[in-house]
Amino acid sequence: MSPGPLRNDELRMFADAVNAFLDDHATPEATARWRADGAVSEETWRCAGRAGLLGVSIPEEYGGAGADFRFEMVLMECLGRKHALNFAIPLHNAVVAPYLVRYASEEQKRRWLPGAVTGETILAVAMTEPGAGSDLQGMQTVERRQGDHYVINGQKTFISNGLHGSLIVVAAKTDAQAGAKGISLFVVETDKVEGFARGRLLDKLGQEGRDTAELFFSDMRVPAENLLGGVEGAGFGMLMENLPQERIVIAGQALGMIDAAMDATLHYVKERRAFGGALFDFQNTKFKLAECATQARIAKVFLDHCVDQLVAVTLDAATASMAKYWITEAQGAIIDECLQLFGGYGYMLDYPIANMYKDARAYRIYGGTSEIMKLLIARSL
Ligand SMILES: Cc1cc2nc3c(=O)[nH]c(=O)nc-3n(C[C@H](O)[C@H](O)[C@H](O)COP(=O)(O)OP(=O)(O)OC[C@H]3O[C@@H](n4cnc5c(N)ncnc54)[C@H](O)[C@@H]3O)c2cc1C
Repeated sequence: MSPGPLRNDELRMFADAVNAFLDDHATPEATARWRADGAVSEETWRCAGRAGLLGVSIPEEYGGAGADFRFEMVLMECLGRKHALNFAIPLHNAVVAPYLVRYASEEQKRRWLPGAVTGETILAVAMTEPGAGSDLQGMQTVERRQGDHYVINGQKTFISNGLHGSLIVVAAKTDAQAGAKGISLFVVETDKVEGFARGRLLDKLGQEGRDTAELFFSDMRVPAENLLGGVEGAGFGMLMENLPQERIVIAGQALGMIDAAMDATLHYVKERRAFGGALFDFQNTKFKLAECATQARIAKVFLDHCVDQLVAVTLDAATASMAKYWITEAQGAIIDECLQLFGGYGYMLDYPIANMYKDARAYRIYGGTSEIMKLLIARSL
């Protein structure tokens, strides 16, 4: 299923709107400020809401644009090309919002989704714990029903949008020994619950403009109706249903960054001179960039295939894992080659390629590591 001509027009118009927003709000000075502050400001989130960048695929009846996933892909590509991927809109729009759209009750959707569209509410998802990342079944955060509330105790770490997130999908277990069937998902409205605390903003190798934080739950009382889907123990199934899309979202951002790295490098090697000619004149430069361009094209074609499947609701977990694994590994390799072509300037943070090098490293880790992707792929063989 590929987009028809009208669709393409709409996609282009949307890209123009996103680029106009990013030209104003994601200037080099602004993105440097995000990194210095450790976060994109709440005001910038609200501006993005006003510009129509948030809740792109949230249905119209809840204030969103009701667009399909291809529009989210356009958004990621634009963020990538403008070096603005530290603004975690893809996580908000295309990773967390779908949990609410799919599993929240009608009343909850009416209450929660409009704020996610305006940017008054920032979304996050909290699965990982200090002792349980790849092996989510080992999580120790527990919930226990008490009248019309659940009482949740535990801790999460590495949570993106952890500082500004005000509606957080939290995974917890009925008891710590319960396996996958014991996992439930809760929506935590952070300004309404007691026993919720944010830890420090984590000091990261890259992606410094994303507010990655720890979360602590100490007898946190969540209304029973905030149990997502209304059934205890259904959380693992929901995660399994949503993780393929999350993996495509990560692959989509990786490809956006690859495009930006290739553009910047091509520009640089055609300008920079050595031994009487442009760097681009060396056969090594041409061969390296030809290899990178080929990998980038393969990534794009495969990702387009996955997105078509996602839109047609036929994307399986193994194929999504292949995309996440292969494209993020290609991202690391391509950006490394690109940086080399910048020489010493590539190591200077004044050059976007240096920040891309740092930012790219996390892509092979979060949303499931490359090793976990291979396990999932192997399971399908
Ligand atoms: C910047 C950043 C943002 C993040 N944002 C979020 C977020 O918003 N929400 C959230 O819930 N989490 C988030 N995470 C957490 C992320 O998803 C986990 O870090 C990731 O899943 C890996 O878990 P871990 O760190 O516990 O590593 P571990 O699971 O301890 O893995 C360590 C190493 O062992 C390998 N390994 C583990 N199991 C196997 C196996 N069976 N076979 C072979 N190798 C294996 C892994 O591949 C890895 O190389 C984020 C992480 C980062 C770095």
